[in-house]
Amino acid sequence: MLLGHYAVAFAAKRYAPRTSLGTLILAAQLLDLLWPVFLLLGWERVHIVPGLMAASPLDFESYPITHSLLAALVWGAVFGGGYHVFRRYPRGAIAIGAAVVLHWLLDVPVHRADLPLWPGSSMKIGFGLWNSVGLTIFLEISLLIAGVVMYTRVTRPRERSGTRALAAMVAVLVVIFFAALFGPAPHSERMLAVASLALWVFVPWGYWIDRHREPSRLHGPLS
Ligand SMILES: [Zn+2]
Repeated sequence: MLLGHYAVAFAAKRYAPRTSLGTLILAAQLLDLLWPVFLLLGWERVHIVPGLMAASPLDFESYPITHSLLAALVWGAVFGGGYHVFRRYPRGAIAIGAAVVLHWLLDVPVHRADLPLWPGSSMKIGFGLWNSVGLTIFLEISLLIAGVVMYTRVTRPRERSGTRALAAMVAVLVVIFFAALFGPAPHSERMLAVASLALWVFVPWGYWIDRHREPSRLHGPLS
């Protein structure tokens, strides 16, 4: 899943308005942001198998440190707890912890049964929605629209760049989503990992958007 994770970050702003969209994106995408790093370190493994699933050629051979349920819970507790120590904002800490774990839960419907419950677990789950391009597009686009609508209801642009930066991010995400869906499979696992590192750009982009937006009057002061 790609767009659905960003939808979680956008939607979480409603629950934790004082937490920056950049931090929420980091939380919602943390597992996929660490994954290419661990691939390059050789700690996790993926194989590109063109045609494996209609919407994804990736055979996630081993990714227990980023994509086991236990690891997601630990990452969520560490990131959420760390945020609370530095920011003393319980709602933000809860939103961050939940967003990290929600990443794993949202990967479950789309992945093949390759998501382990804990490192070394022989039980792996996934419902394989990626076998259908149509359902994949419907789910991802619906989630993104819902997330962006929620975000734009609880925030409003301070100036024009608050709208433009958001619209540009949504456009780039949609382009990446369709390029990954209909474009050629990456040439190598290493190239895939290096290209995936580019997703880190959406974290500072989120901070940039957030600085140019403010809480909408409808939803009152920051809580
Ligand atoms: Zn993932």
